This record gives sequence, C-alpha cells and structure tokens, in this order.
Amino acid sequence: MNTATISPVQKPWLDSYPAFTDWDMPIVPEPAHAAFDRSVAAYPERVCMEFLGRTWTYRETGTMVRAAAKGLQELGIKKGDRVALMLPNTPYYIVLFHAVLLVGGVVVNINPLYAQRELDELVKDSRPHMLVTMDLEAMYPKAHETVEQNGIEKLLLCSMTEVLPWRKAVLFNIFRRKTLARVEDNDRLVLFEDLIENDGGFTPVKITPDEDLAVLQYTGGTTGIPKAAMLTHANVSANAIQVAAWYNNSKIGEEKFLAALPFFHVFAMTVALMTGLRYGAQIIMLPRFDLKTCLRAIAHKKPTFFPAVPTIFTAINTFPKIKEYDLSSMKVCISGGAPLPVEVKKEFERISGCVVVEGYGLSETSPVATTNPTVGVNKAGSVGIPMPGTTVEIHSLEEPGRLMLTGERGEVCIRGPQVMKGYWDNPEETAKVMQGGAFRTGDVGYMDEDGYVFLVDRLKDIIIAGGYKIYPRMVEEAIYEHPAVAEVNVIGVEDKYRGQAPKAFIRLKEDETLTEDELNSFLKDKLSAIERPDSYEFRDELPKTMIGKLSKKELKAEEEVQGNTPAEESAA
Ligand code: AMP
Repeated sequence: MNTATISPVQKPWLDSYPAFTDWDMPIVPEPAHAAFDRSVAAYPERVCMEFLGRTWTYRETGTMVRAAAKGLQELGIKKGDRVALMLPNTPYYIVLFHAVLLVGGVVVNINPLYAQRELDELVKDSRPHMLVTMDLEAMYPKAHETVEQNGIEKLLLCSMTEVLPWRKAVLFNIFRRKTLARVEDNDRLVLFEDLIENDGGFTPVKITPDEDLAVLQYTGGTTGIPKAAMLTHANVSANAIQVAAWYNNSKIGEEKFLAALPFFHVFAMTVALMTGLRYGAQIIMLPRFDLKTCLRAIAHKKPTFFPAVPTIFTAINTFPKIKEYDLSSMKVCISGGAPLPVEVKKEFERISGCVVVEGYGLSETSPVATTNPTVGVNKAGSVGIPMPGTTVEIHSLEEPGRLMLTGERGEVCIRGPQVMKGYWDNPEETAKVMQGGAFRTGDVGYMDEDGYVFLVDRLKDIIIAGGYKIYPRMVEEAIYEHPAVAEVNVIGVEDKYRGQAPKAFIRLKEDETLTEDELNSFLKDKLSAIERPDSYEFRDELPKTMIGKLSKKELKAEEEVQGNTPAEESAA
C-alpha cells in the first residue's frame, strides 16, 4: 500500500484531472443570479423554461424576473429578508428564486409537501418575511395556517392554471377542480399576477458575494432539529462554476436539462437549475417525479443532461416496458445524493447508452464536492475526484484533524469555495462541523492513490456488532448483486449478544421471488458471517426521503417502536 499522507499539499487527484479543466481554475465569486442575467442577454430567443408543454424564452423569463423583483421591493422586501419558496418545480420557482436574489433577499427552500408540523418548525427557525406557495389543496391550507399562526407578513400565491398550456388549463379546471384550494382573501394575500403587474424597473441592490446569503438550505438531518446551511452568493455561484467546468461536451446555448428532482433540494437547485442556466440551457421541469412521465419527457423532449438520484436509475432499469422509450438524447447522467450501486450504474448505462457519473456532496457544500470525470477514468463505486478549487482530506475518526494515509478510512472533510458560511442561528453546531477551516461531513471514506474518493458510509449509520464495525453500504452492495433485488436498505437493530446486528429491508423486482435461505447462501462468499444480515424483510415499497433517497430514518423508527433499536442509535 502507498503510505503517502493525503494532504492539501499533495493533491493526488491532480494527475487524474480531465485535460480540459484545471483544478486551480479561477473561481471568481459573483452574485448567484449573475449567470442567468448573462444568459438572458446572450440567448434572448432561446427557450429557458419548459413546463408540461408550455415554454418561455430567456427574454420572457428575464422580463418576469425583473417585474417580480420590483413587485417584491414594492411589498417591502429588502436585503437580508428571507422569502420561503414552498414550491414544486414550476416556472414560479425559477422566476422567484432569481427575483428574491436580485433584491438581496434570501431564498428559504421548503418542501411543499411537508406536513404542517415540519413546515411550522422551519418557519419558526427561518422567520421569513414572505411565504410563497401554489393555489393547490396539497399546499395552500398548510401555508395559510403557518402564515396566520406565525404572523408572516405576506403569502404570495401562484396559480397552477396560469402556467399550464391553455388546453391543459381547461382540462385541469374541469377534471382536477378538487386539487385547487379554496383561497381566503385577506391583507396578507398577494397574487403572483399582481406582483408582476409593473414595468420591471426595480432598484438594483449591491451584493457582496462572499458575505451576503443567497439560500438557507435545510439539511436532511435525522435529529429532528432543523438546521439550515447558510449558502452565500459566492458559495452558490462557485458550485455552479465548478460543475459547469466539469462537462466539456456541453454546448453553450444548446443543452436541455431534465429537472425531475425538486429544486428545493440543493442537488437539483445547483446541478439542474444553476448549471443549466449558466449554460443557457432549456430547463425541462417535472412538477413531481412519476416514472412514466419522466420516460415520456426523455423520449419526446430529448434532454441532454439528466441529474438524478440512484432510486430513479433503479426505477428506470427495472421498468418492464423500458424498450418502448428512446433514451438516446442524453449525453450525461449525473447521480448523486446517495450511493449508486455498481450494478445499477452498469445496467442503466447498458439500457440508455449514456454515461453515468457519480458525484457526492451535501447541503453544506452547495452541494457538489467530488465527481467522476466524464472523460478519463470513471471509477465505479467511487464518488470521483475533488471539484476545481476543492480539497478533500480524510481525517482520523479517533483524532479529528490527523490526516489518514492513502487507502485508510476516516472522516471525509472538505475545503472549498462552496463550503457554507455556517448553520443559521446555530454557532454551536457550526463549531462542531468546522475543523480548522475544513468541513466535517460525517461521512466515512478513503482516497486511493489516484485521488478518487470512496465513501464507506455515514458515521451515524455504522453498525457495531460485537465490537466489529459493519458498514451497511457494503452489505447493500453485496445484496444488490442478486438479480432478483430491486432495492435494499440495511440498518442496525438490537441484538442480545452482539449489541447490534444488520437487518436488510428488500424490494424485489416485479415477478421475482427470493427466500431468506436463498439469499443467505448467495451472500456466503460475498460477506463475512458477522456482516450477513440476521434478518430480512421483503416489502413492496421502501421508505424514501423527499428527494427519493432510500431512507433509514423511518426504518429505524419502526424498529424502535418494536423495541429492536437501541435508543442512542435511533436518535443519531
Ligand atoms: P443532504 O445534505 O441531505 O443532501 O445529504 C448529504 C448526504 O448524502 C451526505 O452526507 C452523504 O452521506 C450522502 N451522499 C451524497 N452523495 C452521495 C453519494 N454519491 N454516495 C453516497 N452517499 C452520498
């Protein structure tokens, strides 16, 4: 084994860098909305937004952004004010995201399908001046309730039928009436169409990219206490610059990005939206993920870039009628957010003919920290090499701050222009994760001699069985190799003798069968006796997070209710 210490000085990834990108390329901090403004000027007639068959050019989108900015200023929104966007992927998200930034406001990203309690918690924590949502029954009543209860000054309401092509709008009004909310008119209510009823002459606001906040991004943490990463304009723009520099086969002004992931999650916000707009690309929006709609969008609208999470690639791989869809338009598929099983990557590449590059990041890193190169070595199972200007260090788990050797496991720590300013209103949590300027990710991994990062697992998911560390990810990878398995999620459950033992939750592919005994003998030569799950549970569905990652949180909670999970484990 190579015993060289990985340090910021050595940067072993430099030799693996794609020829067309320099690790030390200039990354000049700029307002997060600046790239969109440039694309409006450069490609006014090109389609910017596509939504269920209706399109808006960059010129039209820019005009709406400026009008919305003036409307926000007229309502008193000023520098530093938070505006909560509780929106699905729609043109409203793109327009208001940029309008809020233009007037110096801070976007608070909120999942529109959050339960009332979750929404109230985020609103109490972020204290927005305005909440934006749609006039849909699934969103408006909760938004209205939280606005009234928390005294938020304004509720900005966006109309679903206004953004549909007219035929769809008519049908929507006839058949989907019940999905529209009954809206209560009061002093706090503002309609989007009234907000933009002006000449767009807003007053420009000076942004200091390194200091001013652009986004409050709540992390998918499992502790139940909301924690928002403060992303500055410099963080957000730097990450879009880094990602945009990664794909040399992109043609500025000609690409189409498929936004199947929700913009309120940082992965889609940066990779599908900010990078796409920087390229002057068309952003094809799906208001929610539905497999057939997504496949139809790929076949007919012909996107060239497709950022997605592994569960989406799995869903496509296992769809029985996949041969009926033409997936050949896609040039780059980007997987992130969760581990991409090697089998899933290979199968998707075989079906689509499109290369899948896996990247890695967190809300706190805006999010992209590492990615596999599209040209050069795309190592299956690795999350790739550090993005331009980004340093990855592996710190000792026992002695944080001590750097590990090549190939040795430790906590993945990140430095770079995309690392957040800290947690909103939470200096204690900020101090816990910042180690001498490096951000501690809470992920365990190692770096090989070529500078490729391999993630082993999240610190809090590691199972300790009789003193041995079991990494659920390793167990999952082995189970994925079985051809009958569609999805698997492994957690630690209480075990009388060993403290904890692994338990696997499995969803089989359609029309497949598999017994515990068959799986156990399949795993015999792949996992040690201690790593092999003690119990299996076969289910029709596995719980997922808001962006579609397989979620351990619900499984741990269920086991806890049944008395199978130690309290300290479930709280992690
Ligand atoms: P969030 O901040 O909610 O986006 O979650 C970030 C976490 O997702 C990281 O700390 C990782 O544990 C996980 N994650 C992101 N990308 C990957 C990946 N490619 N492979 C494995 N885990 C990942």
